[in-house]
Amino acid sequence: MSIDEQLRLHIAEQLAGHFKGEVIGPDHAEYDRARLIWNAMVDRRPGLILRCTSTADVVAAVNVAREHGLPPSVRCGGHNVAGKAMSDGGLTIGLSGLREVTVDPERKLVHAGGGCRLGDVDAATAPHRLIVPAGIMSETGVGGLALGGGIGWFSRKHGLTCDNFVSLELVLASGEVIEVSQESHPELLWALRGGGGNFGVVTRFTFRAYDFGPMMRIGVSVYEPAEAAAALRGYAAVVPTLPRTVGWHAALKHDMPALPFVPPECVGKRLLMLVSMWLDDADDPGGAELIGRLCEIGQPCIKASTVLPFAAGVQRLIDTEFEDGHRYYTKEAHVADLADDAIDKLVAFWRDMPMEGEVEIIGLGGAIGDVPEADSAFSNRGYLLWLNFAMRWDDPADDPDYIGQTRAIVGDLAPWTGRGVYVNMLNFDELDRVAEALGGPEKYAGLGRLKAAYDPGNLFRMNYNIPPLAG
Ligand SMILES: Cc1cc2nc3c(=O)[nH]c(=O)nc-3n(C[C@H](O)[C@H](O)[C@H](O)COP(=O)(O)OP(=O)(O)OC[C@H]3O[C@@H](n4cnc5c(N)ncnc54)[C@H](O)[C@@H]3O)c2cc1C
Repeated sequence: MSIDEQLRLHIAEQLAGHFKGEVIGPDHAEYDRARLIWNAMVDRRPGLILRCTSTADVVAAVNVAREHGLPPSVRCGGHNVAGKAMSDGGLTIGLSGLREVTVDPERKLVHAGGGCRLGDVDAATAPHRLIVPAGIMSETGVGGLALGGGIGWFSRKHGLTCDNFVSLELVLASGEVIEVSQESHPELLWALRGGGGNFGVVTRFTFRAYDFGPMMRIGVSVYEPAEAAAALRGYAAVVPTLPRTVGWHAALKHDMPALPFVPPECVGKRLLMLVSMWLDDADDPGGAELIGRLCEIGQPCIKASTVLPFAAGVQRLIDTEFEDGHRYYTKEAHVADLADDAIDKLVAFWRDMPMEGEVEIIGLGGAIGDVPEADSAFSNRGYLLWLNFAMRWDDPADDPDYIGQTRAIVGDLAPWTGRGVYVNMLNFDELDRVAEALGGPEKYAGLGRLKAAYDPGNLFRMNYNIPPLAG
């Protein structure tokens, strides 16, 4: 499965003339940049990167992969924490040349290339006062995020990104290109809504879009460590009562970044931040009143309500905080009960944690749970709150200790966390949880049967794999 010099030359010759993208081997000037991904803990050296510019290029790359028995990794934004985007010695199909976005404002449809980042989509939709519900920063890839689900500020109102698929252009393992929609391939659409990159390479997504913006009202309240537990108790009591027009999240930050509303004396300090988003008209007085009220929870040291451009402002607030190239270790857990004891454990962990980054409590629920469990591969929709440990450091010597501490706190919180996990956040040490993330053995078996129909040789296995299942 690894590519030596002879095979590299052979593939380059095979592609000459009809592959319009770049063929990047270890001797290429771009190689070291092209193999970098978000998580510096993953340091892989692919034998060949085929950086595609079109659907035809992706077909050529998939054909080469199949003919030479090289299960390819597929790279979109490179944000997958376990480094699924990058092959180690084998073939990587890069999609950074497929980043075109076109908006059909009349029909409220958005067509996005399979290599888009979220920022590409937001930049294209903002002038039309439209949004596609997706994630919370600009650099995450649309490909991985959407195929695994896609949570973000608008999930409570409009559901997951994958709930808003209208159709997808898909390159199958056979090299055939198909258009997947509810009308043409309902089972495959069901599987692509959460089943990740198992069924082929998506070269174009068509999403439903919604009226919004361009401005968003947000509220922020910030707390010293001594006030954090009380503020989170207030949060836990109020969050279940909120309408779907509000998203509300908590971030226990190791060091507060220089955000627009943070005074210089708070930058770099360990602080809790609650962020609320009004998901409707930014000028609505009802929204301003509710966001203002949420900022009053507990005893904040800073509170502010402001209006920011969604695409160019809100979606870029945390880009530098979670930039590429650091060592990252993340763990997600769905919260069954944000009880007082759980809050105390969480706050105690945060107050001492040596690693940078943050512990996030993400307020979801709402429209995500409107979709019945059986209607998509994405599963475990019923949780109102998700927990994410997003830990960061730079010295490899700290890996065992910091990973151990993160695992330990997630273990300690087990009495309050529920079944299931977000497939897109499974780390390298959780690969035995794919079936759980995808709804359990029965649903996973159904996905396996579809996999057998569309990718019987399991060519697309460099992902959270669903092995083909006979029958
Ligand atoms: C800083 C950060 C912020 C995040 N924020 C959010 C968030 O707000 N909401 C959320 O839901 N998730 C979020 N995530 C998690 C995110 O959904 C996953 O990391 C996801 O894998 C990222 O997609 P990507 O395209 O960047 O990943 P990549 O690492 O490029 O790809 C991951 C896998 O996706 C598959 N894939 C990607 N593109 C395609 C394609 N076009 N066709 C077929 N398969 C494809 C491949 O199997 C690939 O191995 C975040 C992650 C990070 C690191």
